[in-house]
Amino acid sequence: MSESSPLLMIPGPIEISPGVRAAFGAKPPGHLAPGLIEAFGDSLRMMRQVWKAGPDSRPFVLAGGGTVAMEMAAANFVSPGERALVVNTGYFSTRMAEMLRRYGVDVAEVGAAVGNAPTPDDVRRAFEPGIRALFATHVDTSTGVRIDPEPFTALAREHDALSLFDGVCATAAERFEMDVWGADVYLTGSQKAIGLPAGLALLVASPAALEARRTRRGLPPPMYVDLDSWAPIMDAYEEGRPSYFSTPATNLVLALRAGLEEILEGGIDARITVHERAASAMRAAWEALGLQPVPVRGELIANTLSALCYPEGVDASLVGKIAARGVIVAGGLHPEIRETYFRVGHMGYAATREDMLTRTVEAVGGGLRDAGVEVDLTAAVEALPIR
Ligand code: PMP
Repeated sequence: MSESSPLLMIPGPIEISPGVRAAFGAKPPGHLAPGLIEAFGDSLRMMRQVWKAGPDSRPFVLAGGGTVAMEMAAANFVSPGERALVVNTGYFSTRMAEMLRRYGVDVAEVGAAVGNAPTPDDVRRAFEPGIRALFATHVDTSTGVRIDPEPFTALAREHDALSLFDGVCATAAERFEMDVWGADVYLTGSQKAIGLPAGLALLVASPAALEARRTRRGLPPPMYVDLDSWAPIMDAYEEGRPSYFSTPATNLVLALRAGLEEILEGGIDARITVHERAASAMRAAWEALGLQPVPVRGELIANTLSALCYPEGVDASLVGKIAARGVIVAGGLHPEIRETYFRVGHMGYAATREDMLTRTVEAVGGGLRDAGVEVDLTAAVEALPIR
């Protein structure tokens, strides 16, 4: 990336590392080429490490995006007429609930005020008999609210239900222990902390989730997202054999292997620590600029992005003022508060690059100044160094 090109600091798609770009830019292989099969198999094996999933879990990679991964979760693991509970923390949980309803699932929701999240006790009260699955969004990208999935996995197990998590804005940047916690499904898209361009749907399913697919009643899932059709294909890739169901996004798979290798360079725990440190440095810088977070409590603030309220007298034109300083950030997304806040992503490659984080803080501070707010930019940049 040339230093003069705008820096992409929205909560996905994100800045891509040179290594991932090089892999993505390779001459496109055929879908049966040995090199592609090897990259696919390596990626599936590395996904188990990034997800901290057990050896019996099954990773899936489909051409698509985060919403396709959500569709895979909605279509395969609950039967029409069964009950599911959606822990609603914002825009993407609402999408999940609507998706499940389209499959004829009887959906109950437990929510909280914008910027907040239901507590485990709230979820326990909402866990009525007959609920077969709990769905939750690990980080809601519309508000920057992060939940702690662990108590929800425990509640689901207590009720003999599956627990499924949308990790689109979390996977590889927030702590997740799929095997130890007994989570059943963790899904994401390629364009966030996995560090690729957009275009892949990634999902890992536990043995219990795969069993739920086998015993699912009603019409089969739509053909493209039917995991029974994909399971033998994923097996073939892991075993190094060619196979075909629908053509994979070949160059994205090459990029996926490169991206997962980078994530696992120092181990997944170290990669998450990098994100924790970047996020807390950004929090310190925002505080120094006088910006208030949308999440109502510190522990709800995600590692992957900052959702920040516009200060008094500032409106959505701030986003354009920041862009004029060479950094692209995102406006609001949650319909109830859209005009009152903006969002800055700091995941993947950018979380490893203090210079990018510094440029972002300088552009936000400069934008605030351009909007007539008095800010101490030196204090903000001084607050930033990653320790
Ligand atoms: N879930 C979450 C938490 C997301 O942030 C997004 C994308 N912003 C999605 C799902 C949907 O992903 P996509 O846009 O790739 O379909």
